[in-house]
Amino acid sequence: MGKRIHLAVDVGATWTRIALAENEVFTKRVVFRTPREGGRLSVAEAIISFIEREFKPYLPALESVGVGTIGPLDVKRGVVVNTPNLPVGSFELKKPLEEYLGKPVYVINDAVAGAIAEKYYGDGRGLNNIVYVTISTGVGGGVIVDGRVILGKDGNAHEIGHIVVKYDSEVKCGCGGYGHWEAYAGGANIPRLAKYIAEKNTPIASNSKVGRRALEGVVEPREIFESARAGDLFSRLVVDEIVKASIAGFASVVNVYDPELISIGGSVFLNNTDLLYEPIVEGVGKSIVNRQPTIKPTIFRDDVVLYGALALAVYKPVAID
Ligand SMILES: [Zn+2]
Repeated sequence: MGKRIHLAVDVGATWTRIALAENEVFTKRVVFRTPREGGRLSVAEAIISFIEREFKPYLPALESVGVGTIGPLDVKRGVVVNTPNLPVGSFELKKPLEEYLGKPVYVINDAVAGAIAEKYYGDGRGLNNIVYVTISTGVGGGVIVDGRVILGKDGNAHEIGHIVVKYDSEVKCGCGGYGHWEAYAGGANIPRLAKYIAEKNTPIASNSKVGRRALEGVVEPREIFESARAGDLFSRLVVDEIVKASIAGFASVVNVYDPELISIGGSVFLNNTDLLYEPIVEGVGKSIVNRQPTIKPTIFRDDVVLYGALALAVYKPVAID
């Protein structure tokens, strides 16, 4: 018997990764910048050219391909529709890849891939109720309830980043709404949150280098976390808001889905677990009616979407073709 060959693809807002799996173990990978411009085929064409260059000898034995991608998604057609994260907007994945490879290609939202990764290869093995939350540029979620991957009509169920965590909030989200979890914790929105907090607390902000940069609207999330770590009072105010919003968000997730496991990934969270993890877990415990689930950082770090895409290709846990 030859080895079982699959490809896993992670289409991110900045990077696209392709990994070759032999008997479900990644043995070779390539990373490149996701094309930002071009037409509906530009992303698929870039993926195909890297497959052609790096993985061609393996293609005759290829069984199938799993793709985890930024959304929103038309999951049945495998098309990304009007993504706010790339200027190219809408682009095809499933059809051009299947035409080139002649093998089945399964496409799913990246946070859904995270939940699938945990179920098949991670801390969710043997569990039927799992939520994966990514706190990255934005905040997203993937949900498995009673062993079923929840998708919704287009594959975009559980847009948990847009849970309202503060109903009378003046903090605006990238989607245009106010008081959403992502407005507080999404990396793209943290500078706007910091500016808002600086304007409400000018004496504290003016006494802080990062606070002054926040007032100018030029501060980056990384500076805020670094100076909070160093004890800067203004930065601690900002991190405190991120924590409080995240407690409300995670508590809503527990109350709505009753998970056994919440796995957390995404660069904003994973790079700052020392500031975020314990306060969030402690706060969630005080805000829930359902029994507290296990809450822990994903063991897969930056590879969580790749592992989910692989499990999607190998086990086909959802009917999307
Ligand atoms: Zn929103």
